[in-house]
Amino acid sequence: FARLKAGLSKTSSQLTRGIQELFTKEKIDAATLDDLEDLLIQADLGVSTAERVVAAVGRARHERNLDGESVRKIVAEEVARVLEPVARPFDPPESARPAVALVVGVNGSGKTTTIGKIAETFRTAGLKIVLAAGDTFRAAAVEQLKVWADRSGAIFVAKETGADAAALVYEAWQKAKAEDADLLIVDTAGRLQNKAGLMAELEKIVRVLKKLDPDAPHDSILVLDATTGQNALGQVEAFGKVAGVTGLVMTKLDGTARGGILVAAAEKYKLPVHFIGVGEGLDDLEPFDPDAFGRAIVG
Ligand code: GDP
Repeated sequence: FARLKAGLSKTSSQLTRGIQELFTKEKIDAATLDDLEDLLIQADLGVSTAERVVAAVGRARHERNLDGESVRKIVAEEVARVLEPVARPFDPPESARPAVALVVGVNGSGKTTTIGKIAETFRTAGLKIVLAAGDTFRAAAVEQLKVWADRSGAIFVAKETGADAAALVYEAWQKAKAEDADLLIVDTAGRLQNKAGLMAELEKIVRVLKKLDPDAPHDSILVLDATTGQNALGQVEAFGKVAGVTGLVMTKLDGTARGGILVAAAEKYKLPVHFIGVGEGLDDLEPFDPDAFGRAIVG
């Protein structure tokens, strides 16, 4: 919680200051509530959530005299309420052998790190895991994934730089099948020559997987960098179209995160949030806790 709170400190100090300034007056009128809505939208929480919070504050003002403290509490509660339905652990189906998790997202969002951390977590739980280095475009990405595979004792499948990613995924699935692995996690490229090329490659990977197992990929996890703010919403749509995103991981909530965007994405797309990243280390991938997030966002 401490790191999440620190990471969201930019957002929370803006919100807290704004709320304290707004709710000092004797009378809370419509203008105060409009200002509160603006403040929440500026914090990237999204229009629907902002309206929801304002409605809750509006209701409460008839019951008691509201000060900044109690308004912040309402914000935390309403944010947690928006996030509760989407807080769902990553739970690959046990019946699928292997269960396939495709991990997508733009370069630098934290895909490889997240895969490493997931591999570590599930290995500790006793699962047999195969990691496929589907970002065949970047030698560094393959190397980095190998380090995580070695560390977590996962089976590692890679090909030479520039190899066809879908062919690599095919091989990795065969390997996972032969080894009777529980879980195949597929890393993917976040940037090719252009966006159309990237999307075509992801489509091909999904096509190949479906031939191997009509239900694969069982999970399609989009990794979002919390520092990118509004861009994250566009990424949900772009990757959703080709990879049928089934869940989200938001990373870098320890930095100068614009964490409000997680709330906007949850409200808009209703996609499960499996984990949040609060650092670069092995223990820095945490299950998503809506109450803690709500409290952290108002400091
Ligand atoms: P990829 O290109 O999507 O595979 O991204 P990487 O996994 O290589 O991560 C890009 C950079 O972000 C690396 O330097 C990671 O250590 C860093 N990173 C990933 N997750 C987090 C996080 O939760 N917090 C912080 N501060 N850094 C992270």
